[in-house]
Amino acid sequence: LKRIIIVGGGYAGSMLARALDRAAEVVLIEPREAFVHNVAAIRAMVDPSLIDRMILPYDRLLVRGSVVRGRVTAIADGGVSLGDGRIIDGDVVVLATGSTYAPPFKPASDDMASFRAALLAAHEELRAARRVAIVGAGAVGTEFAGEIAAGMPGKVVTLISATHQLFPGFPAKLGTRLAHDLLTLGIDLRLGVTAARFDAAHPPVAGPLELSTGTAVEADLIIPAVGSTPAGDLARSIADARFDRSGRVVVDRWLRAAGRRNLFALGDVSATGDLMTIVAITRQAPWLARTVRAALAGRAIETLPPYKPWPAPPILIPLGKKAGASVLPVTRNGPVVGSWLTAAIKGRELFIPKYRKEFGLG
Ligand SMILES: Cc1cc2nc3c(=O)[nH]c(=O)nc-3n(C[C@H](O)[C@H](O)[C@H](O)COP(=O)(O)OP(=O)(O)OC[C@H]3O[C@@H](n4cnc5c(N)ncnc54)[C@H](O)[C@@H]3O)c2cc1C
Repeated sequence: LKRIIIVGGGYAGSMLARALDRAAEVVLIEPREAFVHNVAAIRAMVDPSLIDRMILPYDRLLVRGSVVRGRVTAIADGGVSLGDGRIIDGDVVVLATGSTYAPPFKPASDDMASFRAALLAAHEELRAARRVAIVGAGAVGTEFAGEIAAGMPGKVVTLISATHQLFPGFPAKLGTRLAHDLLTLGIDLRLGVTAARFDAAHPPVAGPLELSTGTAVEADLIIPAVGSTPAGDLARSIADARFDRSGRVVVDRWLRAAGRRNLFALGDVSATGDLMTIVAITRQAPWLARTVRAALAGRAIETLPPYKPWPAPPILIPLGKKAGASVLPVTRNGPVVGSWLTAAIKGRELFIPKYRKEFGLG
């Protein structure tokens, strides 16, 4: 039986581990005490009752394989080494170290007590604030504005978008619809402006927040939502690994990194040609599972179909439980759909039941 080592038990690593659990001996290595369904972190800051339902222990994820708690510090040809000195050999290594995001959108540490505490502290700060400014109107910033408006009415929420059109990489109707919905929810949407002298790594806690237009936004609480940073530290220790401009590790058409035959990279850390989303991982992980299975059966990787990123990426942007808009993966231009489908697919439950089920919880 061949052993597959998967480094990182986020969305990509967990999904791949489950898909390969019966085909190989899977060893999933993850420093975190539990899986964090960070999709729900946005609403959890408004409604902390979600916190316990989005933290999912690893012990029932795999039937045959094992989850090893630890941090990989080096990848060699025949396996990996961990920070505590352990060495684990394997036939295939998959790098799935993902990305970081400003806490508590993603956890800053590996123990869940601190993550819970950080979410609760953010909730209290949010409750106490009358005026909230969100810097960055990507998916996280936009959803957060919608959640506050829906769940904590009465606050003044300013959402700052560097682009004139929301979601510029998607069909224009998506941005137009969301801008309309945000205004209907009473959000103070500022399009085509940036926060001046703003350091997202050390953001100010409260305003005034100076804008590129020369004006300022008064805020009791400033939330940076400026995007994910690929977690490439481990990949940087691999000889011959190369990186794209955003810091994702460069891969070949079969998602192999650093010119190695048995080293794959998946998810946010990998320059797959997809966006850094779970939606992308739902395409990559089944593809890699098929490819690894075929390789284990003796097929040469180069004879297998290469990975093709989403030609037109889908995206779901709920604004609270009822509103929002989405691009569904049907044609090149969408279709862009509104509140009803967005709420039904994602907004109401945020995929919490789906992930609880995957992690063996009722
Ligand atoms: C608040 C928020 C909401 C989001 N909502 C959505 C959404 O609704 N839909 C969507 O498509 N995308 C969403 N995203 C994006 C999505 O979270 C990412 O695309 C996803 O997390 C990427 O999964 P991943 O497995 O590649 O990486 P991650 O989820 O970041 O997981 C990487 C894992 O690797 C582990 N790791 C890191 N280094 C090591 C190491 N050296 N050794 C061992 N393990 C290591 C980490 O502890 C972590 O558990 C959201 C992001 C945020 C921040």
